[in-house]
Amino acid sequence: MRNVHQYGKEIAVGFLPVLVVFLIYTGFPGLPLILGLGLVGGLLFLASARGGTAIGTAARKRPAREPEPLSFDDIGGQERAKRELIEALEFLVRSEEAEKFGIRPLKGILLTGPPGTGKTLLAKAAAQYTRSVFLSASGSEFVEMYVGVGAGRIRELFREARRLAVKQKRDSAIIFIDEIDGIGGKRDGGQQREYDQTLNQLLTEMDGIQGNVKPRVLLIAATNRKELLDPALLRPGRFDRHIQVDLPDRTGREHILRLHARNKPISAEVSLAKIAEETFGFSGAQLESVMNEAAIYAMRDDSQQLGAEHFGKAIDKVLMGERMDRETTREERERVAIHELGHAIVAETVRPGSVAQVSLTPRGGALGYVRHHPDQDRYLYTKEALENQIMIALGGAVAEELHYGGRSTGSKGDFEQATNIVRTMIESGMSGLGIVHPQAVTVEQWSQENAVILGDLTERTRELLNRHADTFRRLFPILVKEETLSGDRLREQLRQADRSA
Ligand code: ATP
Repeated sequence: MRNVHQYGKEIAVGFLPVLVVFLIYTGFPGLPLILGLGLVGGLLFLASARGGTAIGTAARKRPAREPEPLSFDDIGGQERAKRELIEALEFLVRSEEAEKFGIRPLKGILLTGPPGTGKTLLAKAAAQYTRSVFLSASGSEFVEMYVGVGAGRIRELFREARRLAVKQKRDSAIIFIDEIDGIGGKRDGGQQREYDQTLNQLLTEMDGIQGNVKPRVLLIAATNRKELLDPALLRPGRFDRHIQVDLPDRTGREHILRLHARNKPISAEVSLAKIAEETFGFSGAQLESVMNEAAIYAMRDDSQQLGAEHFGKAIDKVLMGERMDRETTREERERVAIHELGHAIVAETVRPGSVAQVSLTPRGGALGYVRHHPDQDRYLYTKEALENQIMIALGGAVAEELHYGGRSTGSKGDFEQATNIVRTMIESGMSGLGIVHPQAVTVEQWSQENAVILGDLTERTRELLNRHADTFRRLFPILVKEETLSGDRLREQLRQADRSA
């Protein structure tokens, strides 16, 4: 968010004319002096806006520095992205040969993927691999109200890269622009002149990169919204290579955890492979955070090593947010216990072995939660798997209905999740509508199909929970008293109930 300091220029521009008019009105004697000063100030301001000299440039705001030594070996998972990037960098490493073959220089590499997956790390490692100087900036640093300022900053950034490479006697420079969509979005032809000029300047700088002129400049940019970028940026000769940087798979997650465990005393009972299994969908940044939070919990406990319980708490914290000091009433806690047990019993019945923990600890926006661990990474879902997922989501509300005869506001998020899955089912041709184009489905059809699917699954969930009413009764007081219930204990109770049935 921009603060008053950042808006200083705008405030000054607005305030000065008002002051002058006021002084004229009151007949102030020093008026000629003030007008003179205003004129000089205005000229200085215009000069700075055009040349980008007086206003802090992106390069100056974020002084270029030697990257901390960071190699591709320090990046976990991302094997395909690393391989593609190393291949793309060959032209810098083997520049003489590339020239002999008449290969036109690669000017830009675009890294696309979700936040925290290691795009900045890849750019830094690229600089280390090619022995280039490294400069970084974020797209938002070029967004200004005044026409020409952003363009000036782009010019300055490229100039600075070349200057630094010469100074440090390097053959090449890598400029990294994070969130390139901040400047590289599609041009709208007129209204946003400042924005268009900044992008035009970037295109001009990229076109000016020549293979046989040292120092060579390579632009690496990152975005998680490639579809927003202007086609002019994406055409061959600009961002030539597009490298997808995805969320890590199980092996990748274990690798990342190992890298961040290097400087931490981890107990022998902890299995990083198991933590990797439990953290499906986590980005590299979230895994780093799990390690860090586990270390903080261990230190708070005056423990010599990071143990399994520290990792359990750390995963909960990263997944669900900070534990809240919210005092809940006994009635609220009982209702939350019933709600969460509903989710957990349905989950364990339709996907045995999937519940890691049930907790009544308020975290983030939730008063309680069930943590699941997927048995394997999945990217394709069958109709049955999606229906199971919906039943797990409905389990909380149905349990409340069975015990209290009505629902509470605690199910809002669950219903949102359930209706999103219904949408996926309809779009995947798994509903009574058959294979349909989503845009051809009317609102009435959507809501009718939604009601049919959710009605049927609510009934099945109700039957399932009724069948497990005994287990429910046994587990309820334990959860209310102890506030957490492990997946193992839940499974043990369900097995006992099966044996006595
Ligand atoms: P954003 O799009 O939000 O800028 P990013 O993709 O550039 O994110 P990074 O800044 O590279 O993500 O990663 C943030 C932090 O997360 C790193 O400093 C590192 O601690 C950790 N991290 C992310 N990915 C990895 C990885 N693949 N291996 C090791 N650590 C990682």
